Amino acid sequence: MANNKYEAQVNEFMEAVSKRDAQQPEFLQAVKEVAETVIPFIEENPKYKQAKILERMVEPERVVMFRVPWLDDNGDVQINRGYRIEMNSAIGPYKGGLRFHPSVDISILKFLAFEQVFKNSLTTLPMGGGKGGSDFNPKGKSDNEVMKFCQSFMTELCRHIGPNTDVPAGDIGVGGREIGFMFGQYKRIRNEFTGILTGKGREYGGSLIRPEATGYGAVYFTHNMLETKGDSLNGKNVVISGSGNVAQYAAEKVIQLGGKVLTLSDSKGYVYDANGIDAEKLAFIMDLKNVKRGRIKEYADAYDGVEFHEGQTPWGTKCDIALPCATQNELHEEDAKVLVSNGILAVTEGANMPCTPEAMHLFEQNKVMYSPGKASNAGGVAVSGLEMSQNSLRYSWTREEVDEKLKNIMKSIHEDCVKYGKREDGYIDYVTGANVAGFIKVADAMMAQGVV
Ligand code: NDP
Repeated sequence: MANNKYEAQVNEFMEAVSKRDAQQPEFLQAVKEVAETVIPFIEENPKYKQAKILERMVEPERVVMFRVPWLDDNGDVQINRGYRIEMNSAIGPYKGGLRFHPSVDISILKFLAFEQVFKNSLTTLPMGGGKGGSDFNPKGKSDNEVMKFCQSFMTELCRHIGPNTDVPAGDIGVGGREIGFMFGQYKRIRNEFTGILTGKGREYGGSLIRPEATGYGAVYFTHNMLETKGDSLNGKNVVISGSGNVAQYAAEKVIQLGGKVLTLSDSKGYVYDANGIDAEKLAFIMDLKNVKRGRIKEYADAYDGVEFHEGQTPWGTKCDIALPCATQNELHEEDAKVLVSNGILAVTEGANMPCTPEAMHLFEQNKVMYSPGKASNAGGVAVSGLEMSQNSLRYSWTREEVDEKLKNIMKSIHEDCVKYGKREDGYIDYVTGANVAGFIKVADAMMAQGVV
C-alpha cells in the first residue's frame, strides 16, 4: 500500500485535490488510496506524469445534477435530487450503478465513480466509469411511489445516457424493480428498445447470473486468494455483513463451496446463527428481503438459536473469512483489531470501500489477505458488460456460459493483482496490484487520445 519513498509527491497531489474538493471526504479517501499506490508507479514511468494523467482522472468528465419532483400516494409533491457522474470514458461508454439512499451526495457518488474507472478497467471489458443516483429513500415507499419517482428520475436522466454513451445499473436501493420502472420510462420517452440499463429482467434483455454476479464474483475471488496458499473455502467460518443483493449471493456461493455463513446484517443490527445459514434458511432470507421487503431481525424471530444483535456490526464474531457487503466505511480499525486477534485469514470486500484506511493498514501489517472492492466486487459490472454485449448481439448466453466467463474474469483480475502487487516476501498487496493494473489501461488510452 503506502510507499514512503514518494510521500512528498503524494502529499503535494492530495493537497491540490483537497483544495478543490474540500467538502468531499469519501472522494478524498478513495483518491488518497489510489494516489499512495499509483504515484510511485507514475514517478517511475514519467510519461504519465508529464501528461498529468492522474490529475485528469480525478476530474469528472461531466457531472449532471437535477431536480426530481414526484407525487406521493397522498398527492403531496416530493422533491429529490438526482445525479449522474460521468467520470472517465477513455476505454468505453460510462458504466456504473445508480444508488438510491438518503445519504447520497456528490462526495459519495464521486468516490464510487472514481473507483468504478479502475474496476471497469480491471474487468478487461471496454467500459468507462460512472455512477449516479439520488437521495431518494425507497424504504417504506409503496410500489406506486417508487414507480413515480423512477419515472421522474429517468425523464431527466434519459437525456444523458445511451447504449454507446452511458449505461447505468443498480446499486444500493436499486434492484430489479427500480431498473424495470426506469427502463420502461426510457423506452416510452425515446421510443427505443436498447440496452441503456443493465440488471434488467430476463424477459426484456437481462443477462442470466447478473443478480448473482457481484456476490458470486467476490467469493470466486476469495477462492483465488486462498488458492495461493493451497487453501480453500471448504469448512471455513465466514462472517458477512449486509443482507442485500451482494450479501445474499455471496452467502449462496460460500454455502455451495462448503463454507459456513455465520452472520448477515442490515443497518439495524446483525444476526448470528451458530449452526450456519444453510441453503434453505437463505431462501427464507431472500424471500424476506426481496419479496416481503422485511428486516433481517425477522430471521432471528423465525428460527430457534439465532441471535439478533441490535445496533451492532458482525465483526466481533470469530471467523476465518470476512466479507463486508453492506456499505462504505462499515469496518473500522477497532473491528480489524478484533478480527486479527481472532485469527482471520482473509478479508474480501463485496461492498465499495467498506474498510476504513486504518483497518486496511492493520490487515496489511498483519499480513492478512485483503482485497479491495474494486478488484473483488468487479464481477457485477463484468456481467453487466456481458449483458451489454448480449443486447448488442440480440443473443443470450446460458447460465453456465455466463458463470464460466465470470469465473475467468475474476481469475484474470486476481492474476493482475498478483502481477503488480506481489512483494519480495511473497505477500500480495492487492490494493497496489488492483490500482496499478487498473490505472495502466486507462492511462494508456488517455495518452493515445491526446489532451481531452
Ligand atoms: P442493497 O441495497 O441490495 O443492500 C444493501 C445492504 O447494506 C442492506 O442490507 C442495507 O441494510 C445495508 N446497508 C446499506 N447502507 C447501510 C449503512 N449505512 N449501514 C449499515 N448497513 C447498510 O445493495 P447492494 O447489495 O447492491 O450493495 C451493497 C454494496 O455493494 C454497496 O457498497 C454497493 O456499492 C456494492 N456493490 C454492489 C454491486 C451490485 O451489483 N449490486 C456491484 C458492486 C458493488 P438496510 O436495508 O438496513 O439499509
